[in-house]
Amino acid sequence: MQLPVYRYRHYTPTGQIPDSEPVLCGVCGARTCVYRNRLGPGSPQAALTGVFPRHDLFLCPQSSQVWHGQVVRIAAEMSKTASETLRALLLKEVQEILSTHREKPCEPSS
Ligand SMILES: [Zn+2]
Repeated sequence: MQLPVYRYRHYTPTGQIPDSEPVLCGVCGARTCVYRNRLGPGSPQAALTGVFPRHDLFLCPQSSQVWHGQVVRIAAEMSKTASETLRALLLKEVQEILSTHREKPCEPSS
């Protein structure tokens, strides 16, 4: 499964996506780390409603890196501009950033 472009965090009901189906980061393409059967708000919407069903969290192991956040912010700019020229320039910068970084392994579940 490939997350929608530029998404790096994904929540699903527990067990919906099996271990045999890797979830790839929509920002950098890395295989996301899976944190199963978690308690707490499973999405920003759930946090607002106060309903906290068990869920699985798929999170890119690189999401805390400065360059990863930079790509996310540049992608947000790409979605706002009406200029094809600016969009192409921003996309080139994203590609340059991504080409200089490698995957990092998952850290233990917390
Ligand atoms: Zn990523």
